[in-house]
Amino acid sequence: MTSSGGGVREAALDLLLGGACVGCGRPGRSLCPGCREGLPDTPRQAWPDPCPPGLATPWAGGTYDGTLRAALLAHKERHVAGLAAPLASLLAQAVEAAGPGQVLLVPVPSRPGVVRSRGHDPLLDVVRRAARLVPATTVAPLLRSRGAVLDQAGLTAAERAANLAGSLWCPSTGLRRFAGRTGRVVVCDDVLTTGATAREAQRALAASGLDVCAIAVVAATLRRLPRGRAGVELSGVRLSSRGWVD
Ligand SMILES: [Zn+2]
Repeated sequence: MTSSGGGVREAALDLLLGGACVGCGRPGRSLCPGCREGLPDTPRQAWPDPCPPGLATPWAGGTYDGTLRAALLAHKERHVAGLAAPLASLLAQAVEAAGPGQVLLVPVPSRPGVVRSRGHDPLLDVVRRAARLVPATTVAPLLRSRGAVLDQAGLTAAERAANLAGSLWCPSTGLRRFAGRTGRVVVCDDVLTTGATAREAQRALAASGLDVCAIAVVAATLRRLPRGRAGVELSGVRLSSRGWVD
């Protein structure tokens, strides 16, 4: 496996660049051994509530909060070295939980221009690393974004679904490139919130004749109910007292 060499190199870079742990702020590695140890290690099903009709079974590596949320944001927005490997490990666990056998991993694409402005494609990076950790797995970036959607932040589940309808598609060149590959199709994303993006990816793939068998994400959101409701409960992904619905 190549990740150990990469890990040493990333750790050296973190030290050289004067980084700090995204979890606890301690100077040094971008994710200190203690915070990495504290990341979730049991992938679970993470059904949105309400759930988009027809959504394939969603599997998440963990809950989108605390250190995991900080790591996802730092990797996505600041391209902090050393975070891709632990995030990929969580995604790989979600992919494995979705079932054995040949798998085609289809990442949800970034909107046009976003990759260019950021200088990297954080999700594709994580999906490629995850694929190296799971046997018989191929990364198939089949989806493209039309880029006409609004920022999803602040939209309700219904608004997100309407905003995203028809926003993803599969160019025939990509489909030809992966023609003849066999395996179950798993849509991959970094964070599952309402499930609207994953469902749109599923729709676009189905329109090209590909049935999606599962969704795999690094993390699924834990959303708070509006004020006035007692306690912290979920309106996004339904969790049990242990954090997940079994
Ligand atoms: Zn730490």
